[in-house]
Amino acid sequence: MNKDIKHYLIMAGSTNHMLRGDKLLKDFGIETALVPAPAEYGSVCAIAIKVKKEDKEISEKHLLENGIVLSGIYPEKPERLTGLMDRLKNSIISEEFLNVLKKIEEGEELLYEDIVILLKSDRKAEIDALFKAADEMRKKIIGEVVDIRGAIEFSNYCRKDCKYCGVRRNLEGLERYRMSEDEIMEIVHQIHAVGIKTVILQSGEDLWWTKEKIASLITRVKRETGMKITLSIGERPKEEYEYYKKLGANNYLLKIETTNEEIFKFIHPDDEMNRRKECSLWLKELGYLNGSGCIIGLPGQREEDIAKDILYFKEMGINMIGIGPFVPAKGTPLEKYPTGSVEMTLKAVAVTRLVCKRVFIPATTALASIDEDGQSKALMAGANTIMLINTPPKYRYNYQIYSDKNMVDLASAYKAVTDAKREFPDYLKIDMEVYKDAGNPKKQ
Ligand code: SF4
Repeated sequence: MNKDIKHYLIMAGSTNHMLRGDKLLKDFGIETALVPAPAEYGSVCAIAIKVKKEDKEISEKHLLENGIVLSGIYPEKPERLTGLMDRLKNSIISEEFLNVLKKIEEGEELLYEDIVILLKSDRKAEIDALFKAADEMRKKIIGEVVDIRGAIEFSNYCRKDCKYCGVRRNLEGLERYRMSEDEIMEIVHQIHAVGIKTVILQSGEDLWWTKEKIASLITRVKRETGMKITLSIGERPKEEYEYYKKLGANNYLLKIETTNEEIFKFIHPDDEMNRRKECSLWLKELGYLNGSGCIIGLPGQREEDIAKDILYFKEMGINMIGIGPFVPAKGTPLEKYPTGSVEMTLKAVAVTRLVCKRVFIPATTALASIDEDGQSKALMAGANTIMLINTPPKYRYNYQIYSDKNMVDLASAYKAVTDAKREFPDYLKIDMEVYKDAGNPKKQ
């Protein structure tokens, strides 16, 4: 048997069987994880049950005896970057950094200490080597196409008071808005008309949007367009998540922002980290493709904290990982804190690609807001997704989680994708060349 193989990936016949199978194996005391499966075993967002090599046979037996339909069991092959060291042979790189790069070349899993070494380096040659390795890993696993999604920020009411946030409950002077279901659907149809497949429905934690109202919106999006839906509406009871899933919601974005408990508590006066993690676990159990992410440059945050965030994403089997710099929002308690570093954000993106591998990593709007080339830089450091902001202009100004937010539209997406020499998805129904002379992205 191949000694490189340490784990097997079990693919079930359906999401329901995958979730039942995972629970069953856990009940038998077998260690499992739900992880994104390689594209050759399913789509880029299919989920597999990962088990240790020594548990493969007994897992298969339990699953089949209990009526779980399987579509295949595959070895988890190491993702090697063969020849990486050769390609970097003219770079001046320290020995300890080189040792981590060798592990990447050999497809070995990176440990916490390795990740810290990658994040702490401030030598240009090493940072360039890190971005190159992440870019090669992205190309090998995902290919050249940049996934484009459309976001609608449909309410800026929020019951919470996160200290960094420009729509926090106690922010004074902010005009609050709620789009009506019809207004939202009008934008959903516009996004659908250009061929985009996924709409992100995002809001503050606004309980005016009850379970029934969200359900009605999901039902209309599905019935009228059939688009995939990513919900980003915060912490809700498990039964609500379950209900939305049954109605057809596909993905859920609930960012942890930091796994450092002290910083989490400092920036989230209304939240408990364990509750946030519990919500993420529910979402995963319910079969959502699970989104999370972190903010780079939070007060008191160190490279060690970012390394733990990245390992958290890996261990939780997170499928979509948004990593953006901290950008101070006017009128918030953190307004005078320094902006997060573009370089550290890009390093975190690159390391996340190398550690979590088969995941969606957006080139974030926050990055575009502090560096007009931020999105193309992220695409060249491991990112593979762009989220367009489709909130109607009359509301946009009042949905600024941070100040001077960049309005990522098709013109700026064109610039980022072409600057990074990447490809547009063939599902887009418009000729992106019309944006050729549109210039740099605009701030609102
Ligand atoms: S970060 Fe989210 S939950 Fe916190 S105040 Fe802003 S919108 Fe509300």
